[in-house]
Amino acid sequence: MNVLFIYPNINGSHIDYYSFGLASLVSVTRANGHNARVVIISKEDKYSEVLNEISEFKPRIVGFSSVSSQFDFVKKIAELVKSKFSEIVTVCGGVHPTINPECVLETDFLDGVFVGESEGSFVEFLDKVENGESYKKTDNFAYIEDSRVILNPLKPFIANLDSLPYPDREVYPLDNTIRMAGLVPFLFSRGCPFSCSYCSNHAIAKRYNMDKNRPRYRTPESSICEIEETKRRLPIKSVFIMDDIFGLNKKWRQEFCKKYKKRIGIRFICLLRVDVIDDDFIRLLKDAGCYQISIGIESGNEQIRNNVMNRKMSNEQVMKAVNIIRKYRLRINTINMIGVPGEDERMIWDTIILNRKIKPDSTGVNIFYPYKGTKLGDYCFEKNMVNETLYNSFSNERRETVLNFPEPHKEKMIYYVQNWEALVYPFDIKRALLRWYRGRLRGLLSKIFIWKYLRRLKHFVLFRRNAK
Ligand code: SF4
Repeated sequence: MNVLFIYPNINGSHIDYYSFGLASLVSVTRANGHNARVVIISKEDKYSEVLNEISEFKPRIVGFSSVSSQFDFVKKIAELVKSKFSEIVTVCGGVHPTINPECVLETDFLDGVFVGESEGSFVEFLDKVENGESYKKTDNFAYIEDSRVILNPLKPFIANLDSLPYPDREVYPLDNTIRMAGLVPFLFSRGCPFSCSYCSNHAIAKRYNMDKNRPRYRTPESSICEIEETKRRLPIKSVFIMDDIFGLNKKWRQEFCKKYKKRIGIRFICLLRVDVIDDDFIRLLKDAGCYQISIGIESGNEQIRNNVMNRKMSNEQVMKAVNIIRKYRLRINTINMIGVPGEDERMIWDTIILNRKIKPDSTGVNIFYPYKGTKLGDYCFEKNMVNETLYNSFSNERRETVLNFPEPHKEKMIYYVQNWEALVYPFDIKRALLRWYRGRLRGLLSKIFIWKYLRRLKHFVLFRRNAK
């Protein structure tokens, strides 16, 4: 049986160019004797590609994977598919239906949604569809009956991740970043035990009636074998370990790093929380070949970071972790977020100022997006802070706010996001020259340079004013 997977990433608003969840489903589909193809849709005018692919591939099932901001596009594509190929079974999985299964009520063109970790139940579903049996009672499946959502029991989390095949990299169309730049992503664990109020991890735990989404791992041996196997097929220059927090389990990380150093020997980057960083941890990473660590600062204002975002870490802890990373000469990338409820412009400047103290090698910022099912997301909906029209038709996830802030504040947020690097590195001549050079290449030579220089002066004045 043929199964077509569709991953909408309209306008490139979602940064994950490779969806591990979808790639894992592709693998289990193929491992169970079915044919799978994947289409990534990055523009609305590419919908016709889906219909062409369906005409040619003739799938029995079309499966979408969706984050919240893409679900509106899922509904539109599903309508197109159903109106032309009514016999096709259409379903959707991913984070959005997992924390918000009621989304199935929003459309007549999805036959149901998969909730939670669905590899096991998806295989059962495939068999039922192939044999012409009713599939509605499949575990993890949610569907509409008498205008109500029926959610079947969830299978327990897969305890042994080694029992799953490696995520597919054969039929999944890999992004140019992977092919050209050679930065290849891997994921060796699922789950994060922390409860940051804006993140999906606590919402997923709640869906499973658990207090925490404790991480589960592939064994170090299986993880290393996956890199070795991928190395044989792709030109890997750097490994990007995308686990929410790398190696929280000490025994796991020690064994992984030992094997990695011996058998892989390619530099890698990973993500850490500052409160898990200590000297031994970073020494181990450095020795294994790590060259960059991404740390979530999110806010430089402790009240926002701890009381609103529930991250429970102080600026002192941040600087202590930064000093340890610097001691081992690893690059630092900072991840930041602005636009949460209760934050004013002064607090955004606290984040900029903390980043200036850290002096990261690279930095990025997102605007808060209220995912339904998360504590902070639900709070925003309860307090009528969300512009629902914008939320439901929104593709510019994390680049614009969907909260009902006053217009001038909304515009300021966009300004801060667009000028983030210039604000964090106001006197970095090398970066300024690089930007100038890029501008020159785009044919806007002196105009841009002078403009950026003037803007830099403006940032300096603003900084002085806010720092007082
Ligand atoms: S530490 Fe990161 S992955 Fe874990 S809950 Fe917080 S934001 Fe989510």
